Amino acid sequence: MTSLDASANASSSAISCASTSAGTPSVSLVGAGPGDPELLTVKAMKRLQQAEVVLTDDLVDARVLACLPPTARVLRVGKRGGCVSTEQRFIHELMIREARAGARVVRLKGGDPFVFGRGGEEVDALREAGIEVEVINGLSAGLAAPASVGVPVTDRRCTPGVAFVTGHNGEHGIAPDWAALAKSRLTLVVYMGLARAAAIAQALQDGGLSPGTPAVIVSAAHTPRQRECFTTLAELPAAIEREGLPSPALLVIGEVVALSPRWREDAGLTGAGAGSDADAGRVGEPLATFRAA
Ligand code: SAH
Repeated sequence: MTSLDASANASSSAISCASTSAGTPSVSLVGAGPGDPELLTVKAMKRLQQAEVVLTDDLVDARVLACLPPTARVLRVGKRGGCVSTEQRFIHELMIREARAGARVVRLKGGDPFVFGRGGEEVDALREAGIEVEVINGLSAGLAAPASVGVPVTDRRCTPGVAFVTGHNGEHGIAPDWAALAKSRLTLVVYMGLARAAAIAQALQDGGLSPGTPAVIVSAAHTPRQRECFTTLAELPAAIEREGLPSPALLVIGEVVALSPRWREDAGLTGAGAGSDADAGRVGEPLATFRAA
C-alpha cells in the first residue's frame, strides 16, 4: 500500500466515523476546482466517490460530475432567475433535509467553496441546524486561470501581493474600493467582472492606475472552451467586446501579466503591448531584466 493509499484510507474512515459513531448528520462542502477533474484534490475525489446525494452549482464541470457513482442522486441548484435569497434558503433547507435523512451529502461548488462561493453562508446555516460540516478546498479559478496562461499572481519583482475581488456587487455585497486598489500595486484578480469591465477599468484609471497596465481576460479556464485575450487596462472593455469572450471569465490586471511568455505575442497582435507604460519601464528594473534574459 502506498502512503497515498494509507492516508486516503485513514481519512475515509475518519469521515465515516464522524458521521456514524456520533450519529450526527453531516455535509461535505467540496470545491470542484475550475473544470478539469485532474485538478480535484484527492480528498475531494474521495468524497465524490462516496456521495449519495450531491447538490451542485452550474459552474461545476460535467467531467467532475462524471466522477460520481452512478447511484448518486444529483440535484442541480445553480442560480436561476433573480430570486437569489429565496433560492439560497431553499438550498440550505434541501441540504439540511437530506443530511437529517442520513444521506452522505456533498455540496459541490465550482473552484473553492470559500472564494465567492457563499460557502460561509452555507456553513452557518448548516451549523445552526446542528449539521456537522466539513470543508474541502478546491482550486479557485483566481489561481488556476492566470497560471493556465503563464501568469504568476504574485512575483516579488513587481508586486507586493494579490487581491481577489468581485466585479459584481450582489444584493448585500460590499463594493471594492477601486481607487485604493489602483494605488496598491497589488495584482488584481476580478471575479464576475465581465459585464462591468468598462466601469471597473475606468474606476481603476480614475484612481491612478496607468492605462497601459497589462491585463488578461481568461474565459472558461481549464475547460475545452478556454479562451484568453492579453491586452491593457485601457483596452480591456474593447478586447472583451471584440473577442466576444463568454462567462465565466476572470480579469487579471497588473504587471505580473507581462511576465507571461504569451504577453508579447498576444498583446503585440492587438497593439496593446507596443508603447504601453509597461514597455516604458514602469515595471521597474527586475522585470525589465527578466524580460531581457
Ligand atoms: N468559487 C469559485 C468562484 C465562483 S464566482 C472559485 O473559487 O473559482 C464565479 C466567478 O468565478 C465567475 O464569474 C468567474 O469570474 C470565475 N470563474 C469560475 N470558474 C472559472 C473558470 N473556469 N474560468 C474563468 N473564470 C472562472
